[in-house]
Amino acid sequence: MADYLAMGKAELEKEREALQRCYEAYQAKGLKLDMSRGKPCAEQLDLSNGLLSITDTHTEDGMDARNYGCLEGIPEARRLFAELLGADAAQVLVGGNSSLNLMFDVIGAGCRDGLGGTPWDDCAHKKFLCPAPGYDRHFRVTEYYGFELIAVPMLESGPDMDCVEELVKDPQVKGIWCVPTYSNPDGYCYSDQTVRRLAALSPAAENFKILWDNAYMVHYLGDGPQQTLNILQECARCGREEMPVMFCSTSKITFPGAGVAALAAGPKTFAALTRALFPMTIGFDKVNQLRHVKFLKDKAHILAHMEKHKAIIKPKFDAMQRLLGEGLRGCGQIARWTDPEGGYFISLYTLEGCAKRTVALCREAGVVLTGAGAAYPYGVDPRDSNIRLAPTYPAQAEVEEATRLLCVALRLATVEHLLA
Ligand code: PLP
Repeated sequence: MADYLAMGKAELEKEREALQRCYEAYQAKGLKLDMSRGKPCAEQLDLSNGLLSITDTHTEDGMDARNYGCLEGIPEARRLFAELLGADAAQVLVGGNSSLNLMFDVIGAGCRDGLGGTPWDDCAHKKFLCPAPGYDRHFRVTEYYGFELIAVPMLESGPDMDCVEELVKDPQVKGIWCVPTYSNPDGYCYSDQTVRRLAALSPAAENFKILWDNAYMVHYLGDGPQQTLNILQECARCGREEMPVMFCSTSKITFPGAGVAALAAGPKTFAALTRALFPMTIGFDKVNQLRHVKFLKDKAHILAHMEKHKAIIKPKFDAMQRLLGEGLRGCGQIARWTDPEGGYFISLYTLEGCAKRTVALCREAGVVLTGAGAAYPYGVDPRDSNIRLAPTYPAQAEVEEATRLLCVALRLATVEHLLA
């Protein structure tokens, strides 16, 4: 292979023909693979089958978990998540199976109740900061509630804080989405300085909220989980303990479809949130909360459990890294990709203008990737460069086959682009 960026037209045309033949050979294989979403594979789900035989019905204080009530969650589940989140159990609410659901409700509460200030819906215009690339579903939640989505560049150290500090001077800016540990999709962890600068923000909006989604806090692929600073504690140090709301869930610890989610917030925000949730439900699934406490026990046991996940998924990440290297490195600077120490994704960056075409070529050869642009507000990547790769769900051999095809598709898209 030679450097595409140094090739003349004739050489590029020859390369295109060769790649086209190679691509057609992949098409002829009739592949049918899905690497579009960060889902655990069946083997990972099996790690938690022990949950299904736990039949306890009563909590440690004798409450019947099968019955109505206890909106904040059962005490032992609140303690477990308090340990995970680094918060006081009194500040923790344990919900249903989805943290995204809790985030949706928190944004809804901000719109109607205000969470310590003018309800966001009472403002003529409202905006939300979206570090990009980021988690598409976050952006969808704030889009749904009528916010203008403001992209903030995502750096290896977290959101570009110079940019954030400038933007929060606008009273229409009501909050920011954050995935502080092994971010979706880059796999970056916020530096201590980023967390401290976030905590020290003085936003013009009195009820500005940091939505701190620590979805991947224990999902490490290296020697142990990265410790990002605790935003609740940092904010409290700055006298701003009502600014953050922390979230996490067991979705990728146990079962995404039947796990347990939790949030933690400062006392006034916590009270406002429980008030807002009160009309919605009499209580979440406490039987499942109880099962999870019995199964996961404490943070030490959770980390031991995550080692088993790592043993299953790390070889898939490693294979993808190796094959991206083998398939792309000889072609010059046509792509770069992240090599995360945890989380569920590898983020691939093509030359500007090549991501959509690469994803389309993969799809036409039977491999579904996350839509190009999905990780940006409104689904539009201004550079058309980012592709989110999710290697956990397919079998190892499928990850390998899909990555080989991806390299051919990316090279073909690049050559087409350079010839255009
Ligand atoms: N937050 C992030 C950053 C995610 O990547 C995901 C799922 O991919 C979720 C939240 C969804 O979490 P839950 O299953 O708890 O709703």
